[in-house]
Formats: sequence, C-alpha cells, structure tokens
Amino acid sequence: MIRYALHCAAGHEFESWFRDSAAYDAQVRRGLVACPECGTTRIAKRIMAPAVATREERAAAPVAMMGERERQIRAMIAALHRHVRENAEHVGEAFAEEARRIHAGEAEERAIHGVATLREAMELREEGIAVLPLPPLPDDAN
Ligand SMILES: [Zn+2]
Repeated sequence: MIRYALHCAAGHEFESWFRDSAAYDAQVRRGLVACPECGTTRIAKRIMAPAVATREERAAAPVAMMGERERQIRAMIAALHRHVRENAEHVGEAFAEEARRIHAGEAEERAIHGVATLREAMELREEGIAVLPLPPLPDDAN
C-alpha cells in the first residue's frame, strides 16, 4: 500500500491509499478518486507533481515523513527504557562490576542496568556476559 498526498482542481488537499502507483493512475484515469470536499475527480498528486506544487509544499513533505518515523523510533526507545526501568535493577556506575559478580555466581542472578563505558561493555561481552547497549532517550536531558 502506498499513501499519496493529493489535491483537486479546486485546491483541496487530502490523502488516500492505493495498492501501488499503477493502481493510483488507473483509478484517477477512470474517475474513481473524488475530492472528499467538492467531489471533483480532477485529482493530482501533491508530491509527485512539482509543476503545481509550491516550493513550500515540496520542502514540507519529506520533513513530515521523517517526523512520523522519528516519532516511532522515539516511542520504541522510550518503551525500551520503561521496560528496563521496570524489570532491571539500577546499579549505576557499578554496572560492569555487578555484571561480573552475577556472572560468577557471587551475586543474585537478576537483570540489571546502569552505566558502563564502551570499553567495559566490550570486555564484558568478551567474557561471555550478555550486555545490551541502551540508546539514549531523545528527550532526556541527562
Ligand atoms: Zn475539491
């Protein structure tokens, strides 16, 4: 499925889904796509028609798409952080040391999270300890 930003001959803007670009072409040619506001079937794509798109519209389109993707990524990272906070014990900068103690059976086996340098994380991995880097929270000032 592909979503097209469309406008009609009267300048109304709307969006519609199509199976692919060929389906869009066929439906518009047969007059099956009508403007929801005025009902005209004289429809054109906004992004794909630079001859009628203003400079502002062309510049705005890619930004809007990136915004949606960025929102999804932010939501995923936020969910990951929430999951870790709820399911893992925070050990702060003692992370590497505590991870080794758990691995060696000297501390209770549990999920932990905290701060480690890249070097510490790589060393832990080489020792066969499962560590997962947590991407920073985009809105987190810390
Ligand atoms: Zn219209």
